[in-house]
Order: sequence, then structure tokens, then C-alpha cells
Amino acid sequence: AAELTTVEAGKLTMATNATFPPYEMTTDAGTIEGIDVDTAQAIAEKLGLELQIDDMDFDAALLSVQQGKADIAMAGITVTDERMAVMSFSDSYATGIQSVIVPEGSDITSVDDLAGKKIGTQRGTTGYLYCSDDFGEDAVVAYDNGLTAVQALNNGQVDAVVIDNEPAKAYVESNPGLKILDTSYAEEDYAIGMNKSNTALLEAVNAALEELKADGTLQSIVDKYIKA
Ligand code: GLN
Repeated sequence: AAELTTVEAGKLTMATNATFPPYEMTTDAGTIEGIDVDTAQAIAEKLGLELQIDDMDFDAALLSVQQGKADIAMAGITVTDERMAVMSFSDSYATGIQSVIVPEGSDITSVDDLAGKKIGTQRGTTGYLYCSDDFGEDAVVAYDNGLTAVQALNNGQVDAVVIDNEPAKAYVESNPGLKILDTSYAEEDYAIGMNKSNTALLEAVNAALEELKADGTLQSIVDKYIKA
């Protein structure tokens, strides 16, 4: 394969936010694992690069590739027109749905019921954008990450949290007293974000992804973390 230019020679530097299970999470031992990590690892191997993970807030991960500090951003990132204006995206490798988490017994039973309530989200996410568009910026509290948003819900500082469906499931599992509303909010495609100028990397990542989809590797990574 042709030499790829990366932020650090020989390495594929991945910006992520490891509070988004099962895509990326921090284990008790302090290591970062998940679907995005294994997928990035498989891509790095195909590209002959060593994967390096940089953990940061979600909005910082998006900026990191734009500023040329990371090669790829992988954090269950939804492809949107606004983001496509400032960064490039690989082909999609997964889908997500915005979900609403509420305490058991909440009077919120539908997305419409969020009107007039305090909604917790993660700063810079599509959940934040949808909720502030639909219910007004004053109704939405932006937390550093999913974990702090869920803690705020547990403490009664917000009435609901809007977050992608898979992390929602994981957070509800580990926080008794919370539940996910049946109603889902918006369907989205996840892709790998890259700097617009590195078209060679974009092509190489897409070629690697295609192989990982075709040979079943991607599906086996998903199956490892999401039990049917
Ligand atoms: N999919 C959502 C987004 O891209 C949330 C991602 C995340 O919080 N890691 O905005």
C-alpha cells in the first residue's frame, strides 16, 4: 500500500470519548474498549499502522481531526450536513437512534412530553441539537459526557436524558430506577470522521471498512459487544 500521511508516523491516532458504551467505554482497569476501538484496531492493522487512542470530550474529538491533531474521530459519530461541511466521513459502519431515558414513574411518556422539561444531553451531540431545536436552548442542559448527564438525571437535576440507543441501554442497565421510553427520536448513521485534506486516508479507511464488512469481521465485533 502507498505511504499514508498520519499525525504521527506509523500510527493511526484516534480521538474518542470513552463514555459511550458499547462503542467506547473505560473499563475498571482503566483501558478503553468497545466496537469503535476494535474496528479502529482492525482498520489500523490493514493500514499497517499502530492504533493510538486519545480520550477526550465528544466535542473535542470532532475538533481534533479538524485541527489535524488526530487522524480519525470515532465516537459513535452521526453524519450530519453541518459536520460534513467541516470534516470528511467514511462510509457508515453502524446506525443509532436517539432515545429518551427517564426515571421509573416519570410523567414523560413520549417525546412530545419533553416540552417544558429539563433535558440532559452531551455537549456537541445530535441529541443536544435536536432537543434545543425542538424544545428551546433553555430547556437543554449540556453535560461533558453521557455519564455526567445520567448522574444528573439520578440526582433529579434534569427530567430526562436524550442519548443514542445503545449507550442508553447500557446506562439503564447499570442504573436501577431509570428506563428508556419506547418511542425513539431520530435515526442516524455513524461514520469515522477525518480531516478534509487527508483524502488518501479517507480512501484507505473506506477500503479497509469494505473488507471488514465483506469478511464478517465488523459483524463479529458488533456481536461481541451487543447481545441479540
Ligand atoms: N451520535 C451522537 C452524535 O454524533 C452522539 C455521539 C456521542 O455522544 N459519542 O452527536
